Amino acid sequence: MPSGWLPRTIANVTTNDDLRRILNRIDGKGYPAYKDIRGEYEFPGFTLLIDHVQGDPFAAPSRLRVRVPQSVAGYPPDTFANRSRRVALADFLTRAFDVACSQVSGRRGSGKSGLVAIDRPGQQILERTSALVDERAVEVRFVVGLPAAGRRVLGRQAAAMLCDDLPRIVESALHFASNNQAGLYRHIQTAEDADWLRSQLAPHGLIAFVADGAVLPRRSGVDDRPLRQGAIPFRSPDSLRVEFHLPNAGPVTGMGIPAGVTLIVGGGYHGKSTLLNALERGVYNHVPGDGRELVVADEGAVKIRAEDGRAITGVDISPFIGALPNGADTRHFSTANASGSTSQAANIIEALEAGARVLLVDEDTAATNFMIRDHRMQELIAKEREPITPFIDKVRQLYDERGVSTVLVMGGSGDYFDVADTVIAMDAYLPRDVTAQARAIAQKYRAERRPEGGDRFGQVTPRIPLAESLDPSKGRRQVKISARGVKTILFGTNEIDLTAVEQLVDPSQLNAIGQALYYARQRYMDGRRTLPEILDAVMADIDREGLDALDRRPVGDLARFRRYELAAALNRLRTLRVRSTQYAARNTQHATRST
Ligand code: ADP
Ligand code: MG
Repeated sequence: MPSGWLPRTIANVTTNDDLRRILNRIDGKGYPAYKDIRGEYEFPGFTLLIDHVQGDPFAAPSRLRVRVPQSVAGYPPDTFANRSRRVALADFLTRAFDVACSQVSGRRGSGKSGLVAIDRPGQQILERTSALVDERAVEVRFVVGLPAAGRRVLGRQAAAMLCDDLPRIVESALHFASNNQAGLYRHIQTAEDADWLRSQLAPHGLIAFVADGAVLPRRSGVDDRPLRQGAIPFRSPDSLRVEFHLPNAGPVTGMGIPAGVTLIVGGGYHGKSTLLNALERGVYNHVPGDGRELVVADEGAVKIRAEDGRAITGVDISPFIGALPNGADTRHFSTANASGSTSQAANIIEALEAGARVLLVDEDTAATNFMIRDHRMQELIAKEREPITPFIDKVRQLYDERGVSTVLVMGGSGDYFDVADTVIAMDAYLPRDVTAQARAIAQKYRAERRPEGGDRFGQVTPRIPLAESLDPSKGRRQVKISARGVKTILFGTNEIDLTAVEQLVDPSQLNAIGQALYYARQRYMDGRRTLPEILDAVMADIDREGLDALDRRPVGDLARFRRYELAAALNRLRTLRVRSTQYAARNTQHATRST
């Protein structure tokens, strides 16, 4: 940056003509001259806000906003009349803006020159900061690569982008009159129906619903769109069929999965994991045409898996893991390198601490020794020599004592018949209710194994995270937080590995979680509040103020996440330190005694 350069005052610059004039004036100058265009411009029919101007053509692109008053945008009140519709409308506008951008976006010089882009949603409809709608205006937030030749401003090119292309994008993507209105209504009605359906689960004693005709398989492990050819549509078994009357689509039938312990059995490759994956994603709404529009799960459903190698900080895993050979205290268990079974135990306890109501477990990603210990092994290795109490001996207590349901894919062990309320067999991708047969078999061949779970599930002790153990600084930056895809949050110098947190679906969720960790640290980690209390407070702020609560700057790349994934990120921060509420109580006692 040339020394002595100062941002020009832009108080008198107000219209698109002024913007064009500045851009023409700085044409050919050094790149920092672009800083002059920061500010607010009145265009015919909208306001352009240039919030952040990139420092050079290769840096993160500039951040802009467009605000269209409803008097121009013209969205009928029914398109954003409730939360479901508002979120879905904003999602629709983000997608429309994305399509319009890709038609004009292109290289106009070096680095990111010519880029015009908005956050790009996948198959889910999520609340995002990329677009906001209310009765006053429609706002979208996007990024622009301000064009340069080498490091010289291409002012005329920039004027073409911002003053000519942008108004066309705005009109085609953001005006109700020019939008695909049938598609728009289908979008918001689909989301509204899914939210409504989800709200009906608990009152009907269900934890999930899979509509008849739903298409569950995906195109590939890295492509979340529906399988293109040969997908067998879902068909519910008679005994589990329920019917709902949706607010928009009317009557729908499908399989209701009752609260309690549910097994999904069946031969290999018969569609068990595909069904469970659909339930995992059923905590989100899906776009029309996805195939899972009417596959919904309880909002508190959390996927549980083994995750060896993860760090664990001060978790009471004693309900599952007793005396370890190294003498470690499993009521306050910490490790930098968990085993399969201890990681799965911690994942469950942490989910319960965060308030999970349903656990989703797949044998494919579970630790075998955590899931089952059969009769012969009980004979060979005495209970006293085995720290692990297997899940089979705890899964009923979880439901009976704590009301936490489990859906478990288990093709490998019939011992689970003894503890299941419902058994669903997947047979060539179609479900059958085999509960009665499974019961009969359990009667006929009585399990010789002895239950090892004791009388009670045991305690879930909330922990108190300590603010000073979250350090977002890096080098000279006080706060440096970013995300890489759906797998990693970079928090200061720490990498939080979220590979095993399978219900994260969008990179913008990780951006938001990264910010939320910092927000929680600044606002709520006071050495007294427990993790669940902190989660309550952060989520309540987001409910009230939107995701903008998390970042002072207007940014367009935050997406809604659940409390479980926020907790999961904190729990995987390797520097985390906590105080257990048990220990805290004891410490207080000491203090009183010594004074
Ligand atoms: P399992 O867990 O029982 O071994 P998966 O759920 O992994 O089986 O499914 C095996 C394969 O079958 C996957 O490639 C999946 O995409 C495909 N598949 C699953 N459900 C269907 C369906 N309804 N129609 C067509 N293919 C399916
Ligand atoms: Mg499987």
